[in-house]
Amino acid sequence: EPVVLARGVRMSYGDTEVLRGVDFSVAPGEVSCVIGPSGSGKSTFLRCVNGLEPVLGGSLRVLGEEVGHTLRDGKYHPWTPKRFAEFRTKIGMVFQRFNLFAHQSALDNVACAPIHVAGMPGDQARELAMEHLARVGLADHAHKRPHQLSGGQQQRVAIARALAMSPTLMLFDEPTSALDPELVDEVLEVMKKLALDGMTMVVVTHEIGFAREVGDTLTFFDEGVVVEQGPPADLLAAS
Ligand code: ADP
Ligand code: ADP
Repeated sequence: EPVVLARGVRMSYGDTEVLRGVDFSVAPGEVSCVIGPSGSGKSTFLRCVNGLEPVLGGSLRVLGEEVGHTLRDGKYHPWTPKRFAEFRTKIGMVFQRFNLFAHQSALDNVACAPIHVAGMPGDQARELAMEHLARVGLADHAHKRPHQLSGGQQQRVAIARALAMSPTLMLFDEPTSALDPELVDEVLEVMKKLALDGMTMVVVTHEIGFAREVGDTLTFFDEGVVVEQGPPADLLAAS
């Protein structure tokens, strides 16, 4: 079964229909890049996949389940907040803004979820955090606070933080759009390494070079629907 399988997904804010029947799928180990104009619903779709927004129509299956509902005795039962929280531990999300805790070191930012969400002992969580910081090339910066790090380094900490919960799926929402141009590549390199490690990823991005080189699939959103999905080489004219 695909990791994400959307069929006719609908979502509105009030009277404004933002997703108007999204069809989309991601296979295990696939790197799926998503592009499209601002306001076309890319962010909203990612938030639906993560259970942060309710799906108002169609079907959205993620990690083998209808998001927000469990089928039991032939009926759909809505998830409790606890069930949503449990679901989200399997999905790592990285935003345009890094949202790190300003008063904590990089290490403590990464160790936070294993300690507070997974209940891991502090020493063990910090050891794990160190491994993930090393994975994003920041072992030497573990004790710095966010303001002592560049934007690119902060985003790499945010990626390490997401990885610390051992997610099955990683969602990236324009992860390099807030960065100075010279800091973009170091973040894309970390994402590329993650892709080569076999992580299943959905990446909303304007970085066409990354989509072409690393993406298995490219999806175009426009006005709340998917207008094209296919191999990047087929969809992007050679240039
Ligand atoms: P994209 O990520 O493609 O830029 P978004 O999913 O962020 O698109 O937004 C899609 C549309 O939904 C936009 O018109 C945006 O203004 C609107 N929108 C996004 N979030 C909200 C919200 N919380 N309340 C109302 N409208 C929203
Ligand atoms: P982005 O374009 O980076 O995806 P936006 O600037 O559209 O983000 O939105 C920033 C925040 O404001 C998000 O939490 C989004 O849900 C919310 N938002 C966006 N558009 C609207 C809107 N029209 N009404 C209310 N909230 C909105």
